[in-house]
Amino acid sequence: MSNYVTDVAIIGAGPSGLFMVFEAGFLGYRAVVLDALPQIGGQLAALYPEKPIYDVPGHPHILAGDLVKNLEAQAAPYSPTYLLGEPVEALDEQSGGFTLRTASHRVEAKVVVIAGGGGMFTPRKPTQLENLAEFEASGAVAYAITRKAELAGQDVVLAGGGDSAVDWAVELAALANHVHVVHRRNDFRAAEATVAAMMQLVEARKVTLHTPYQLDALEGDNGRLERVRLADLDGATREVQASRLVCCFGLAPSSGPLSEWGLGLERGLIPVARTSMATQRPGVLCIGDMAAYEGKVALILTGFAEAAVAAKTVQAHIHPERKYKVQYSTSKGVPGTPGVA
Ligand SMILES: Cc1cc2nc3c(=O)[nH]c(=O)nc-3n(C[C@H](O)[C@H](O)[C@H](O)COP(=O)(O)OP(=O)(O)OC[C@H]3O[C@@H](n4cnc5c(N)ncnc54)[C@H](O)[C@@H]3O)c2cc1C
Repeated sequence: MSNYVTDVAIIGAGPSGLFMVFEAGFLGYRAVVLDALPQIGGQLAALYPEKPIYDVPGHPHILAGDLVKNLEAQAAPYSPTYLLGEPVEALDEQSGGFTLRTASHRVEAKVVVIAGGGGMFTPRKPTQLENLAEFEASGAVAYAITRKAELAGQDVVLAGGGDSAVDWAVELAALANHVHVVHRRNDFRAAEATVAAMMQLVEARKVTLHTPYQLDALEGDNGRLERVRLADLDGATREVQASRLVCCFGLAPSSGPLSEWGLGLERGLIPVARTSMATQRPGVLCIGDMAAYEGKVALILTGFAEAAVAAKTVQAHIHPERKYKVQYSTSKGVPGTPGVA
């Protein structure tokens, strides 16, 4: 078990948690960031690293993965410690602060900022498929596309009927050898324009739809996928040649241990005071998608602004005698920039 002592422990390395490092650092507070995922970036890294985002202020468009890299670089002058790949399992309080525990780390902090987004995500899986684990291990079956170049020239089966499956069908049609979309209903729950774009690709024979069908079996040896068998609701089957299967059934968010921390967590959200981002537990703040208040708009840019508010609360908690004054980065700079000690 390794031990860390810090000012602020940030649970969640999504965009909100990463920008929290900057905002806390700017006011002089060190941060340790903990995330259950093996990489930083939250949903942006786990779900759509290669998609362009169009509504981050100052970026007409930016790939989600690039935004994560930029946030990491922006936080770097404050030398955060990242503890990745293990969920935070316990939050204990003692005089003067908190202790957080993961399977192999123990972090003591004066303030805790929860930036847990939609919670710890686990993909919904087609557990009815007998040899699923074998093909998961080889990478032939996946639940997110993190490097679309790997699908170039492949026969790809996309399973699901929501935005994710339809978006990827459109995007991969230009790249893959062939794209099959399997959905258990005839209609798709995705943006109309994208469904229309997919239907054009169906007409152009770049995409084949299989509806109403569901996954029935995976065929191949030693983790090498060769065919996916599909079945309709009456049990009629068909086989599709496939080297990759991407299941887009969505993620089942789990708030995990957070529900036991006395934060009033309800349906995955923690109520906070909008003016401070404080939860009902003194010294524990919450920002980003997980923070709930009237009028909340759960977007990346909202989490950024909430981080600035939370930093002000961090200072009020650690140094109540200090009067908060807005400081401009143009005047103060960040460590390592000219004119800053
Ligand atoms: C396909 C898709 C497209 C999107 N497009 C846009 C867009 O164009 N513009 C926009 O503004 N928003 C978009 N969003 C929404 C955006 O991704 C979220 O608003 C944003 O990710 C929220 O950031 P966050 O930091 O609050 O949380 P997240 O990004 O959800 O990060 C939270 C992190 O906390 C971690 N965590 C949770 N609980 C624990 C625990 N107990 N221990 C350790 N770690 C924990 C999780 O593993 C996760 O990494 C999109 C979302 C999706 C799914």
